Amino acid sequence: MGRVQGEVAFVTGGARGMGASHVRKLVAEGAHVLFTDILADEGEALAAELGDAVVFLKHDVTKLEDWEDAVKIAEEKFGPITILVNNAGIALTHTIDELSEADYRKVIDINQVGVFLGMKSVIPSMRKAGHGSIINISSISGILGLGGAAYVASKFAVRGMTKAIALEVAADGIRVNSIHPGLIETPMIMQPGVEEVVRQMAETVPLKRIGKPGDVSNLVLFLASDESSYFTGAEFVIDGGVIVQ
Ligand code: NAP
Repeated sequence: MGRVQGEVAFVTGGARGMGASHVRKLVAEGAHVLFTDILADEGEALAAELGDAVVFLKHDVTKLEDWEDAVKIAEEKFGPITILVNNAGIALTHTIDELSEADYRKVIDINQVGVFLGMKSVIPSMRKAGHGSIINISSISGILGLGGAAYVASKFAVRGMTKAIALEVAADGIRVNSIHPGLIETPMIMQPGVEEVVRQMAETVPLKRIGKPGDVSNLVLFLASDESSYFTGAEFVIDGGVIVQ
């Protein structure tokens, strides 16, 4: 029996990177998964590989109507949602002098408002199920000032919102926690030609390596499962020891 057998999960930004790894892990442990992304080709390819246990939808996390449609489809196909992984996000490390108002608002819209809309849309479905686990992907940039004002502001907001909503929905049997990854090897950071930079960054990590998506998926699975039934409003750093230096 899988560790999330029979649960219904919703994963955003699931077409590639960490999101795709979370989708694979949740399916391997017995969940049905509706996953979404704005990258349709990659999402459809992953869905074709994983078969009947998943549904992929093209979905922009900044659009409330997209969320409402996706929740309806998940419920029709698999039943009420019991796991939400708010993973979709973008990085922008511009300094204040380089950062335009439009770019600032775009990062906040996707990384912060997208997480809010996700929780607002999915919590009624979790109430129907009688239980739920929401996992919000923040960053170590949600704890430290590193990463540029827009990204840092959005990720601090995710950390704070997690705690506020955890208190609001605890009595409904819904838990809400945040994950704070350090450097993880995904397309977001592995841009062409950066191998040497990444090698140098790995040297600054106490555990001497960049994290793999699967490292974070193991934590997502723990928080999604009943093994974490007494955790809510908590923040989980997964960074190889970077921020304790
Ligand atoms: P990734 O490989 O870029 O995957 C993120 C996915 O989200 C992409 O497919 C992206 O599409 C999609 N997306 C962007 N905007 C969206 C929107 N409006 N609606 C729906 N999907 C959207 O990144 P990742 O590294 O796996 O990151 C996953 C999460 O972890 C993010 O929240 C990120 O901030 C966080 N994180 C990452 C790291 C790291 O080192 N990788 C560290 C700490 C935290 P596009 O490619 O078209 O934008």
